[in-house]
Amino acid sequence: MGLSRYREQLRPSTKVLAVAGLLMLLLVLGAAVFADLLAAHPPDRSTGLPYEAPSSEHLLGTDDLGRDLWSQLVYGARVSLWVGLVAAVVATVVGAAAALVAGWHRGWVDAVIMRVVDLTLSLPFLVLVLVLAAYFGRGLDVLIVLIAGVLWARPARLLRGQVLKIREFGHTEAAHAMGAGSTRIMTVHILWRLVPLLVSQFVRAAAVAVIVQSGVAFLGLGDPGRISWGSTLYFANNGSAILTDAWLWWIVPPGVALTVLIVGLAFVGFAFEELADPQLGGHGWRPPSRRRLPEAVPDPCPPEVRLDVRAMSVDFDGATVVREADLRVGRGRVLGLVGESGSGKSTLGVSVPGLVPHPGVIRAEAVMLGDIDLRRLGRQGLERIRGRDVAIVPQAAMSVLDPTMTVLDQVAESAALASVAAAAERAGDLLSEVGLPLDRHRAFPHELSGGQRQRVVIAMAVANRPELLIADEPTTGLDVVTQQAILDLLDDLRRRLDFDLWLISHDLPLVASRADDLVVMYGGRVVESGPARAVISRPQHPYTAMLLGAFPSLGAVTARLRPVPGEVPDPKELPPGCAFAPRCPHSRGDCDSVVPVERPVQGVMVACHHAPVDSSSGGLPGPEDDLAAASPSSASTTAREARQMALRLDDVRVVYPGRRRGRPDVTALDGVSLEIGAGESVAIIGRSAAGKSTIARLALGLARPTSGSVELLGKGTAGLSRRHLSALRRRVQMVFQDPYESLHPNMTVAGLVGEPLAIAGRGRHERAARVAEALQLLGLVPVERFLNRHAGTLSGGQRQRVALARTLVASPQLIVADEPASMLDASLRATVAAHLLAVRETLGATLVFITHDISLARLVADRIVVLCEGRIVEDAPAVRLLTTPEHAETQALIDAAVRGQVSDCEGVAIDNSATDRSGR
Ligand code: SF4
Repeated sequence: MGLSRYREQLRPSTKVLAVAGLLMLLLVLGAAVFADLLAAHPPDRSTGLPYEAPSSEHLLGTDDLGRDLWSQLVYGARVSLWVGLVAAVVATVVGAAAALVAGWHRGWVDAVIMRVVDLTLSLPFLVLVLVLAAYFGRGLDVLIVLIAGVLWARPARLLRGQVLKIREFGHTEAAHAMGAGSTRIMTVHILWRLVPLLVSQFVRAAAVAVIVQSGVAFLGLGDPGRISWGSTLYFANNGSAILTDAWLWWIVPPGVALTVLIVGLAFVGFAFEELADPQLGGHGWRPPSRRRLPEAVPDPCPPEVRLDVRAMSVDFDGATVVREADLRVGRGRVLGLVGESGSGKSTLGVSVPGLVPHPGVIRAEAVMLGDIDLRRLGRQGLERIRGRDVAIVPQAAMSVLDPTMTVLDQVAESAALASVAAAAERAGDLLSEVGLPLDRHRAFPHELSGGQRQRVVIAMAVANRPELLIADEPTTGLDVVTQQAILDLLDDLRRRLDFDLWLISHDLPLVASRADDLVVMYGGRVVESGPARAVISRPQHPYTAMLLGAFPSLGAVTARLRPVPGEVPDPKELPPGCAFAPRCPHSRGDCDSVVPVERPVQGVMVACHHAPVDSSSGGLPGPEDDLAAASPSSASTTAREARQMALRLDDVRVVYPGRRRGRPDVTALDGVSLEIGAGESVAIIGRSAAGKSTIARLALGLARPTSGSVELLGKGTAGLSRRHLSALRRRVQMVFQDPYESLHPNMTVAGLVGEPLAIAGRGRHERAARVAEALQLLGLVPVERFLNRHAGTLSGGQRQRVALARTLVASPQLIVADEPASMLDASLRATVAAHLLAVRETLGATLVFITHDISLARLVADRIVVLCEGRIVEDAPAVRLLTTPEHAETQALIDAAVRGQVSDCEGVAIDNSATDRSGR
């Protein structure tokens, strides 16, 4: 990440502080570097003129021994800077190394390092340094070692938490799966992401070291051979400067210099803390003082409306992401807000309680939560209402949970009760209320399944009994069964706790099945809104109609997907007229030049010049054609005849030991035998924790069977050395579920796609050529436009195509795709599936497609394997399995996809509000 990108992340007030801090540091640095030029006298040599007042010869006069005080001031800067910088470098490097080792190895290594950290942090810091300084000597080097020996512990603790978090990120796992060594993963994938936190810890350590060195010298325990600001103050104190006029030039200048250095460090440190945690600071609302806000339009029926948003716009860095959106959440009703990624729906959701990240600016004509006008609340006012009046269930539960705390402690923190015991008790009640089993209350986030983590963040959100709950993509990435369970839970809590619910999702049918009212967004604008039933049964806007057609259903067993062609436009490059015009089959006349405004059409509000349109005539040729062209059946006629096995599991059992004492072991796979021939395309479906991901990990050599055997590309993995396993792993490639986490956000597209080649030691020219070729094939053109972009600037669909390009350059014989489309909009799922099939065809590779999306499984695979609680319960050709399922679990998964009703493996009806199965 370049400096300019860091600068963009800082809010203006922080930039001012950072510049002021840098100027202060430059001032001290200048004094230290040019001390020989600035000072006319040696700082420790007497001029024979004690107690001289300031003059042209002695700018700050002399001390009681006749030494020049100006010289002491400028030379003193050297000592302070030297001690501060060297001690901070040592402390930060040692702390970072300890954090990396502890977080990477975990287990007993982590436990030992953390106990040492705890012990170091509990020691009385200053007293310890003073005692040790007295014992070991008073040289600066000794002091630096002592200070660093104590200061390393704090960065170690903070950084270790981040390492634990980052090592779970998809891009770290992806690098591991590509065969990258620990050193490369720790430096390229982990350390790089810690840079802002490392620098903020370094600056803080430097400030503490300067204070300690000055304090030690002031007490007369410093290096007697070095003149420092602390020693000047020591001599001033002993020379009774305070009783004479001499204090003005003897005490004040070193005091001011110390203050300038420490405040400068603090200002710069604050800027880096903000980079490490962008949530610090502002609330994003345009300050009320800038202009007079219009009064909210009186509501004709106020008691019926919980939230009333009128003409809300959100600007980011010159782009308007949300444009004059109107939205209402009625009391006792559920509002569904839908649209593809990039439509502005999540930004609208987080903007209401002022949580839009910097540098977002929100404008609105009215934002009334009950009778509270949110526009008029300052930062503190908004902080007060968050959690109590309005709460958010954020996207990606894992990213908001602290990996170093148990979920009980985290919920207790949210409960914000005065007494710790009361908060813990309340947290326990809340976790039970959301259906988390008692034995999981003291688990760490990584020990829970995706559904369980979602329950935890819901418990945190409802901890303070909010009146309005905004659930932002609460089911994305979960299997169909867990999706229904989470929505049932929200519905149940809504009734019991009496809050109103605003569901934000890209999954239109899923939201429509739960919402009373629907709002559809595109290009930052609301394009259709009204009662859910009316919107779904008779969509009036072409986008709504095409979005509905994009979703797979049971009909997809016999019918094809119809993804919305094209991509959501960049907010900075919106067309002048209707934003949907480039993708709309009905576009004509003024569509390209005039922005349509909402108007009533057959019971709903629609922003389309030509609504109502005949939706049956919609649909353009799109990726579905690619999908048909690259259908699995065309690819695998020879596959089934192939004799060579890509993956063979023979009576495999995988048992994960309980992570902590007293925890039962988890059986992930139980007697699984499976043969996947070279060139075959096989989908493995099942609920969360059914064992799907364990099969993927076995295929990548990332997990080993407890019993039974695994043969990968014709080689048994048992007993293979790490080097041989890494070499085998390079012939297998994984496409991960989360396109936002599986790519390192700070690496360029060229670096990401070329990483497998870099790991394999290929030259720069070969890498560049193959990367360009792969990007071309995946439709990321013109290639030059993408090569130097960071993953963080790409859309979800583009990221997944970059991941596929990386798979292509690696030329694997086996591709394992773990839910590659589940985090994407429906319209993108078919596109990604088409590209996946194209890559597989190009390489002639075997494909193992792990999914909970049964319709997509049918489109991608020839054969479907159904897993339930670690066992294979059905294995059959795709069409046969979906048209005449034999096992209750297969039927249950099909039912869940269609109606949200399931039975367990034995056919017994289960309660969706019950907890998910635990495990990995
Ligand atoms: S205004 Fe025109 S381009 Fe936009 S959705 Fe309606 S018909 Fe299509």
